[in-house]
Amino acid sequence: MLTEEEIEWTIKAGKITREVRNRIKYFIKEKMKILELCEIIEGEIRRLGGEPAFPCNIGIDYVGAHYTSPPKDDSIINYGSLIKIDFGAHVNGLIADTAITISLESDYEEMVDVAEEALDKALEVINIGMKVSDIGGIIEKVINSYGYKPISNLTGHSISRYIVHSGISIPNISGTHPGRIEPWSIYAIEPFVTLSDAKGEVINGPPGNILHIVKLKGPKDQKIKEYFDEIFRRYRTLPFAKRWIDLPEEILKNLMKNKIIYEYPVLIEASRKTVAQAEHTILTTDKEVILIT
Ligand code: MN
Ligand code: MN
Repeated sequence: MLTEEEIEWTIKAGKITREVRNRIKYFIKEKMKILELCEIIEGEIRRLGGEPAFPCNIGIDYVGAHYTSPPKDDSIINYGSLIKIDFGAHVNGLIADTAITISLESDYEEMVDVAEEALDKALEVINIGMKVSDIGGIIEKVINSYGYKPISNLTGHSISRYIVHSGISIPNISGTHPGRIEPWSIYAIEPFVTLSDAKGEVINGPPGNILHIVKLKGPKDQKIKEYFDEIFRRYRTLPFAKRWIDLPEEILKNLMKNKIIYEYPVLIEASRKTVAQAEHTILTTDKEVILIT
């Protein structure tokens, strides 16, 4: 159950992401550094009064999710790519999560529209009490109707305070996935689309420069604990970027070795086929579904 304050903060976070998303097309350009794109988006979120809920994810072509620029990243965006930009804002831990795909003269422009349409259809029918598997069925049907395939193991998710994925998954395929849309809750819906001859699933790739705290107790060593406490103070249980923290390499290694901090792997399409994504966050009251992003 969300309090009145929490609803306000969620709606504010949603407005911030909407404004940022509307502006992306004006500042994305060929040969732009991926790092610059991430920093502009994260900077805009802060300028509008929020904090990034997680590092800006840039997924190019077959990269499905969970990649952000490492520190001093020199890589650039090239024409001919399909670029997924997935970002979130939070206000006092209340999160809005959204994504768009931009085609820079890629061959897969139609996939962007299919992802958007699958999302729109899901948002049209979603209501309180609905089985999440029925939402997955609708998303899959739209995607299949255009001759494409959903990514079966990437899902939308429930969101709670300081937690981006809080337990309920919203699938992009039909089936028997458990769970229903509850009142007074926050959910992200995010169809991922790929080609019909693709495997249609993601597998773990290399580390993606996105970290998060997994062991709240922290380390025993006093010196290392000081670093840990500072990270927890800033990000709590939210994901953060390697490039956001100024941490000696050996301290980070120690925290990762002791499974206190975890680095997400990049999720790549198993058959290296291009992926498009669209995402919005909704908020439910006792009787309404409100699109906040
Ligand atoms: Mn997202
Ligand atoms: Mn999401």
